[in-house]
Amino acid sequence: MAQAQAKADKGTQTLLVVDDRAENLEAMQALLEGGDWQVRCVGSGEAALQCLLEEDVGLVLLDVQMPNMDGFEVARLMRGNPRTRFIPIIFVSAIAQSEDAVLEGYASGAVDFMLKPFDPEVLRRKIHSLLDHERNRSELLHLTRQLDSARAFNASVLDNAAEGIMVVGEDGLIRFANPAMAQMLGCAVSDLEGSALLSHLLSPVVEGDWRMSEFYRHWRRHETYRLHEASLRAGNGEGVPVALSCSPLPKLQHAMVVIALDMSVVRSLHAQLESLAVTDPLTGLLNRRGFHQAMEAALARIQRNDQRLAVLYLDLDGFKRINDSLGHGAGDQLLRQVGEQLKGSMRPYDTLARMGGDEFTALLDSLGHPEDAARVAEKLIEQVSVRHCLNGVDVTVGASIGIACYPECGQTVESLLRAADMAMYEAKRAGRQQYRFFSPEMNGRARSRLMLEESLRTAIEQDDFVLLYQPQVYLDSGRLRGFEALLRWQHKVAGTVAPGVFIPLLEETRLINRLGDWIFAQGVQQCQRLSRQFGEQLVLSLNVSPVQFGMPQLVDDLRRVLDEYQIDPAQLEVEVTEGALMQHLETTQEQLRQLRLLGVKIAIDDFGTGYSSLAYLRHFELDTLKIDRLFIANMLDSPRDAAVVSTIIDLGRNLGLEVIAEGVETLAQRDWLVAHRCPVMQGFLVAPGLPAATALAFPAQLDWADLPAGKDPRGQA
Ligand code: C2E
Ligand code: CA
Ligand code: CA
Repeated sequence: MAQAQAKADKGTQTLLVVDDRAENLEAMQALLEGGDWQVRCVGSGEAALQCLLEEDVGLVLLDVQMPNMDGFEVARLMRGNPRTRFIPIIFVSAIAQSEDAVLEGYASGAVDFMLKPFDPEVLRRKIHSLLDHERNRSELLHLTRQLDSARAFNASVLDNAAEGIMVVGEDGLIRFANPAMAQMLGCAVSDLEGSALLSHLLSPVVEGDWRMSEFYRHWRRHETYRLHEASLRAGNGEGVPVALSCSPLPKLQHAMVVIALDMSVVRSLHAQLESLAVTDPLTGLLNRRGFHQAMEAALARIQRNDQRLAVLYLDLDGFKRINDSLGHGAGDQLLRQVGEQLKGSMRPYDTLARMGGDEFTALLDSLGHPEDAARVAEKLIEQVSVRHCLNGVDVTVGASIGIACYPECGQTVESLLRAADMAMYEAKRAGRQQYRFFSPEMNGRARSRLMLEESLRTAIEQDDFVLLYQPQVYLDSGRLRGFEALLRWQHKVAGTVAPGVFIPLLEETRLINRLGDWIFAQGVQQCQRLSRQFGEQLVLSLNVSPVQFGMPQLVDDLRRVLDEYQIDPAQLEVEVTEGALMQHLETTQEQLRQLRLLGVKIAIDDFGTGYSSLAYLRHFELDTLKIDRLFIANMLDSPRDAAVVSTIIDLGRNLGLEVIAEGVETLAQRDWLVAHRCPVMQGFLVAPGLPAATALAFPAQLDWADLPAGKDPRGQA
C-alpha cells in the first residue's frame, strides 16, 4: 500500500540523454519513443550536470566521448554529489572499446555499458529494469526517512518524559533508561544501562535472585507489577522514594518497561501536612499532639541514657479577663506575644507547645537537677509577667507553673503531663504567679478533686443543690432586716456538704457560672415570697464569688431575674469578698458602677480580713460592711479584735454604710454589739441558714427574751 502510493507520487520518470552530436540525440529520442518515461536530451556534460541539479532524473544515458567534459568526467562529478550519487548511468559509446575503457567506465560509476550498434529492445529492457531499481531505491530511502523520524519522535518522547522509564530485559538487566531516570538517581544513563535493576533497589528488599523476585514472577504471568512505596538508591547512596509500575512488553521483546514516579515531592507534601497536624497555627509552637510526640521521643531516648527531664505546665493568670474584656483578637495577640517570650527564654533543645487556650507546656531535656527546672520556671514567670501592649492598651498577665520530673513523678507522657497539670493547679491555689513541683500528696488531692468535680457535674444536672436562708436582724429593735442565701449541696451519700468545700472547686472548673444562674433564680424567687410575707423593705443577700464577680454578664443576668420576678433591685444585696474586689481594680470599678446603675445593694463580705480594706472604701461606692465572724468570735477575749470591730462599726456610721456583724453566737456578743451601736447582726444566736419554708415562718419581729443565751442552734438546721 505504502509502496503503491510512492509509485503514484513519483509519476513518470525522466531519462536524460547526453550526447554532443545532434543526430545521435535525435536517433536516441526516436529509439526511446513510447516508453512509460519522459526523455530529456542535452548536448554536453555541463548541460547534463545543470539538468541533473534542476530535475529529478531516473537514469542517465551518457555518451563517453564528448569535447570539453567527457562522459567519465560527468559520471565522477555525479558520484561526488549526494543528490546525484545513486542515479544509474548507462555509458553509450560508438567506438569499439578496449577492456580498459570499459573498466574505467565502471570505475567512474557506470551501472552499464552499451556499445553501438546495439539492439534497441535490449536497451529498452535495461532502461526498464534500471528505472525500476531506481524507483525502489528512492522508495526505500523515503521509508528510511520516515522510520528515522518516527524513531526520533519516540526517542524525544522518552527523552522528555518527566517520569523515569527503563526497559529491563528478562535477565533483569537494564537495556534502556531515559534521561529522567538518570536524573532522578543523579547518575548518567550509561551508569544504568547494562546494570541489574535490583542493584538500584533499596526497598523493598528482594530476597534471592532476579528470577525469585516479584518483578520476574509478574512478567512471567504477563501481569503488571505495581509498587507504591519503593525506594531506589541514588548515585550518592541516598534513597529516592518512588512508585514503580512494571509492565511486560510484547513477548518477542523478552523485556518489561519500568516506569518510576518520583515521590519525594508527594512525600514532602505529606511531611508538610504532618507538620501542620502537630503545630499550633496561632503561635507556631507545637500543639498538644506535637508535644505528645516530642515527649514520647524524648522519653524513649532518655530511658536508654538514664537521664532526667522535666515537664512544665504553664497557665496564664488573668487571660480570661483580657479575652472577655478586650476581645478574642487581643487575646490571640497576647497568646502570640507570650509564645514569643517563652521561646526567647528557652534553650534551643527544649520543646515548647501550646496545649490549647492559655495553657503552655515546656519539655526540659537532659536536666542536671530538678532545681534547674525551678530556675527556668522562675524565669518564665518573670518573662510573661511584663506589661503587654494590645492595640494600645497596656495589660498585665501572670503565669502559674506546675513542674513534673521524670522519672520521679511519672514514667509515661500521660502521667507526667497529669502531674505537671496538678502541680500547676496547686500553684494557682497558692495564690498565682508561682511554680510548684508535683508531689504524691497532690496526687491524692487531685484524685479526690477529680471525683468531686465529676459528682458536682451530676449534682448540677440533678438539682441536688438547695439554698438556706439565714436571718439578719436589727440589733436595737429585733426587727427582721432580711436573709442571706447560703448554698448547700445535698449529697446522696455524704449528706449535706458546706459550700466551703465545693465553691472553690466550682470556681476552678468554672462550673460556678452554671450554678450561679440557678442561685440567682432561686434566690430572687424566694425574695418574691419573702417580701409578700414581710413587706418590700426586706433584703435578700446573695453571695457572689470572685469568678462570678469577674463575669461581664453578671449585671445582665441579675437584671433578667429581677425583671422576671418583678423585684425592686433595692431589695437585692450582692455580697462580694474583698479578694474579689481587689482582683483587678479597673474592671471592679466598672462592675460596681453597673451594679449601682441596676440599683442593687453592695455588701463587702468578710470585711477586715483583706489587707487593703480601708483603701477601697475610698474608691468604691458601697452599701454594707459585713464584719468577719472571726473578729466577732474573738472580740470578747481579744482587745485587738474588739478594737477592729468597734472601728468598723464607727467607720460604717461615719461613711453612711450599714454594718452587719456576722457569726453572732451568744447574747454576750449581742450585748457588746448593742453597746457599740452595731446596727445589724446575723448568726446562730438568732438562727442558722433555714430551709425556704422555715424562713417564711420566721418572726418579723424578734423578742430577744425568747433567745436562750449562748445556745448554739446549729442542730436545728
Ligand atoms: P459567708 O458569706 O461568710 O457566709 C457565712 C457563713 O458563716 C455561712 O457558712 C454560715 O452558715 C456561717 N455562719 C453563720 N452564722 C454563724 C455562726 O453564728 N457561727 C458560725 N460558726 N458560722 C456561722 P456557709 O454557709 O458554710 O458558707 C461559707 C461560705 O460559702 C460563705 O461565707 C460564702 O462565702 C460561700 N457561699 C455560701 N453560699 C454561697 C452562694 O450561694 N454563692 C456563693 N458564691 N458563695 C456562697
Ligand atoms: Ca456572705
Ligand atoms: Ca462572711
